[in-house]
Amino acid sequence: MVKAEIKHAMTVDVEDYYHVAAFSKVIEAAKWSDYPSRVERNTEVLLELFYRKNIHATFFVLGWVAERYPEIVNKIVSQGHEVASHGYSHQLVYSQTPEIFREETYKSKVILEDLAQQPILGYRAASYSITTKSLWALDILADLGFTWDSSIFPIRHDNYGMPNSPEQPYQIITDNGALLTEFPLTTAKVLGLSIPAAGGGYFRQYPYFLSKYLFNRASLNQTRPQIFYLHPWEIDEDQPRVAGAGWFSRFRHYTNIKRCLPRLECLLDDFSFGTVSESLAGTDKNTTVSKAELGIKS
Ligand SMILES: [Zn+2]
Repeated sequence: MVKAEIKHAMTVDVEDYYHVAAFSKVIEAAKWSDYPSRVERNTEVLLELFYRKNIHATFFVLGWVAERYPEIVNKIVSQGHEVASHGYSHQLVYSQTPEIFREETYKSKVILEDLAQQPILGYRAASYSITTKSLWALDILADLGFTWDSSIFPIRHDNYGMPNSPEQPYQIITDNGALLTEFPLTTAKVLGLSIPAAGGGYFRQYPYFLSKYLFNRASLNQTRPQIFYLHPWEIDEDQPRVAGAGWFSRFRHYTNIKRCLPRLECLLDDFSFGTVSESLAGTDKNTTVSKAELGIKS
């Protein structure tokens, strides 16, 4: 029997450069509309590349963006991609109350479902902010009708991460007994350490050969699907520079932006990609964990 080719999940978090958590100290949410928007133009560049490479991806669209630039959602849908939710306000989940999280996650789901004319079943939190401090969010996602999530990064990091959580897709049993499929962000084991290999800033900071090596290693030589993410602003050399941000935030945000798009082309040639749903369909998700086990499972 010929083994079907596995598909990794290609994902894009559709937000603008002024939404990122690293700039939240210098750009208040109330001022977002004052900044020139680049998100439509940048998303179109990615759509064009995916069209040329003949792949479908999953776009986690921020509700705030969908409300102001509905054409983006129309284009994503008309080109056959999958739409999922990136929440509404891009606030960190662990900084919100469960009530506010429920309210704004519902609001963004309704906005996206109206525009996409399809059920929105997947969710990704701003800055991977579902951690052991905000596990209640998983119950709310299941209550609101989401069936899968990709917000948990199984690493140690200053702003996010659940270092001891599973590294491959698994099912979480929520408080009301529903199952939520989690597609954790890609990590590769090197000398016993979990090295992030999921995309974004890591992809821009590492030389391409290292990203390729780590992604391949995480997938055990292309035998199990992994997930990759990128933001539209990460391919935009001409985005306005944000004044007043600290050097570390600037380093994380602007490093190697001009190299990002050509590297993404290489990645699309070197690996096979599809939407999260396509990728999960070919994935063994037999591992089931309770919320209590998350974060303490070795
Ligand atoms: Zn985001």
